Amino acid sequence: MIDIFGILGIIIATIFLLIVLLLIITIILISYSAKTKKVFFPRFIIFVLDLLYHPLKILTEKIGLKKGYIDIISNDMRNFIHYKKLTKIPFEDRILLLPQCLRKINCPSILDSAKGFQCTKCGKCGIGDLISFCEERNIKVFIVPGGSFVKKVIKLARPKAIIGVGCHVELREASLVLDYLKIPGRGINLEIDGCIETKVDYEKIKKALIIPED
Ligand code: SF4
Repeated sequence: MIDIFGILGIIIATIFLLIVLLLIITIILISYSAKTKKVFFPRFIIFVLDLLYHPLKILTEKIGLKKGYIDIISNDMRNFIHYKKLTKIPFEDRILLLPQCLRKINCPSILDSAKGFQCTKCGKCGIGDLISFCEERNIKVFIVPGGSFVKKVIKLARPKAIIGVGCHVELREASLVLDYLKIPGRGINLEIDGCIETKVDYEKIKKALIIPED
């Protein structure tokens, strides 16, 4: 008679061992990439991080790693993969998405239901300067009031590449949408996240925006 429980036990043990093996390989690849500053098998790393996203998030937080560690690694890997594709996209086909929380609390911009917050370049935050930088290069900028607005912008602007700023969770969610739409992108993490007056490295955004055209 077939021992169903025995077979089930073997299957579960095999799956468990496979997961452990995948994790060990991924940890080695991430550590080696961090040490040598060269990225090895980024698609494999993303595959494992996506597959084991929730347990890995809990595990990394339990062992005291930085909050959002998995999202940050995942974003770095996607940025690496998309770099080459981004160089093929002319500046005028790239758009920049900024979260509205980057604005100052007394920001005078008005929300346009189709275009997002309309910056008046009042100088209270770095967004005005950044918009001027983009205007010189024909890159459209949207200050988005929320996640659902991003879909609207993509429909309206039909970008061929997106550079986006956000917290690690937002960047991961956006990267999944971009993967689905097959639009190359580059995510830039906020230096200080939250709901108001968040902070970002504006130079990092500028560098990402002008990744040279091939
Ligand atoms: S520079 Fe633009 S986004 Fe920043 S506070 Fe002024 S109007 Fe608002």
